Amino acid sequence: MNAIPKPEPATQPGAQFAIHNPATHETIGTLPNLTAKQIAAAVDRAAAAQPRWAATPVRDRLRILSRFGELLCDQKEAVTAVISREAGKPQAEALSTEILVVLDTVKYLKDNLPAFLRPEPVPHGNPAMKLKRGQLLREAYGVVGIISPWNYPFSVPSVQTLTALATGNAVALKPSEFTPFSSLELERLLREAGLDPALLQVITGDGSAGAALLSTNVQKMVFTGSVATGKRVAQAAAARLLPVVLELGGKDPMIVLEDADVDVASSAAVWGAFMNAGQTCLSVERCYVHESIYEKFLKACIAKTDKLRLGHSRLLRPDQSGNNKSTPAQKMGRPDGADSEIDVGPMIHERQLSIVQSHVEDAVKRGARLLAGGSPLPQLGPNFFAPTILADVDHSMTVMREETFGPVLPVRTFKTEDEAIALANDSEYGLAASIFTKNRARGEALARRINAGTVMVNDVLACFGISEAPHGGVKASGIGRTHGRFGLEEMVWPKYVDSDRMPRMKKLWWYGYGPAFANQMSGFVDLLFAKKLIKRMQGGVKSTKSYLRRKLL
Ligand code: NAD
Repeated sequence: MNAIPKPEPATQPGAQFAIHNPATHETIGTLPNLTAKQIAAAVDRAAAAQPRWAATPVRDRLRILSRFGELLCDQKEAVTAVISREAGKPQAEALSTEILVVLDTVKYLKDNLPAFLRPEPVPHGNPAMKLKRGQLLREAYGVVGIISPWNYPFSVPSVQTLTALATGNAVALKPSEFTPFSSLELERLLREAGLDPALLQVITGDGSAGAALLSTNVQKMVFTGSVATGKRVAQAAAARLLPVVLELGGKDPMIVLEDADVDVASSAAVWGAFMNAGQTCLSVERCYVHESIYEKFLKACIAKTDKLRLGHSRLLRPDQSGNNKSTPAQKMGRPDGADSEIDVGPMIHERQLSIVQSHVEDAVKRGARLLAGGSPLPQLGPNFFAPTILADVDHSMTVMREETFGPVLPVRTFKTEDEAIALANDSEYGLAASIFTKNRARGEALARRINAGTVMVNDVLACFGISEAPHGGVKASGIGRTHGRFGLEEMVWPKYVDSDRMPRMKKLWWYGYGPAFANQMSGFVDLLFAKKLIKRMQGGVKSTKSYLRRKLL
């Protein structure tokens, strides 16, 4: 088994770090690894601009987001080129899983934000409180810190940033050190749309910059990444009681019931396991197939995997015009158009590839059948791994317990529904799951028994593209939600405002204690909660009489 390479030595804060094309290892740019002092100053700039932004009418904030959406739609090819270049994914995939998701979020915010931020009446059930008017306001935190991973370098930070900005926050965004240019595209487009540049601070740098961001004046942290880093973030946040959202890893199970359409389910498994080279938090990482259709399902998966084309965007020469207005995409070079023939790109880096290889080797050593792939493809580039199918896996294997995060589809059988549910729930993760069956009601009933933030019936991964759907997990997969109404709630804190309609009236429960007050309260409790009607009526009389005898202070 190959030893897993250690991470590259950390860049010193203040020094430049290089960003590589994962398909070729060419350097595509360098950026500064910001120091703690620079990061604190950036957050202070954002904090200074935020109160004015929070006081800006919602419709004006949404106008900027709208303009951003138009610019993104117009410039989608340039932005997907940047994404493909630094993350290695096919451009069409960048369009469907990054650009589309972000544009749909803009629409979601436009459609839903005004109602979400409108003061919400809080009616009172307690008769003693009927003379009050309660309302719930939703207040922006101030500066929201966002720390992002490399696998969806545009959609993950953009959805969170747009939601935070729309609700009146400023943002300090620390993108992954492997894919920072996508976040710089987000920043460029938002500025072009008219956003005050102070409101979005992109913090370039590695993990040290992320750690430094946690010690600044941010008021909320939204972290997306691995469980190991998520725990570190949670510890640092706990030390200063900083509220956090943690969107962490997954080990998503797919269950294929005996009544499923094998053609549909096998296509879903192959796409769900290999899309983005398997580097998706919602990837199909474990597949359980009813024994009666197991071999047929495997045969279909092998045939479909065989047809996948691996490769990467080759880039034409960069724009040499020296025009300062060139976008980063133009400066880095345009894709050659061959991209549309590619299904699977490279993995992000050698360390990730080695983890995948070690999981496959461990499974084969423990008795799994290797039916496709199984090894790196150095002839294509440094980080390519062949889409791999493993059959007859079991839960003693690393590939069924730890997040593989690569193009691997491990499959095993089950006999009964109960066994399938037990296998699906036998994991420390709980991000998402899927069930394939021709009987939708049966699928929905089983979905209730799976411990995961999302369960899809007859589809995989697509929940991430539904802006209304909350995204997030249980167990080690994280805390809190992004996307949809729950994602909006994470970006605001609830403020309850209560105003009494009788400003000239002393309240019945104020001082002026004594036996009359005790009787008043005793009668009042009976009036509200006694089981028998007669006791409730007696309580009402007792309470009123006692109140009339009282002298309030
Ligand atoms: P990672 O944890 O290595 O890094 C994530 C981010 O944290 C990067 O920006 C990194 O620089 C930063 N970081 C590193 N050390 C830090 C520290 N001590 N303090 C603060 N920040 C620090 O994760 P990754 O390899 O970039 O991403 C892959 C992981 O992300 C996978 O586990 C995947 O499942 C998960 N992920 C989850 C979701 C989700 O929505 N649940 C979405 C995408 C990816």
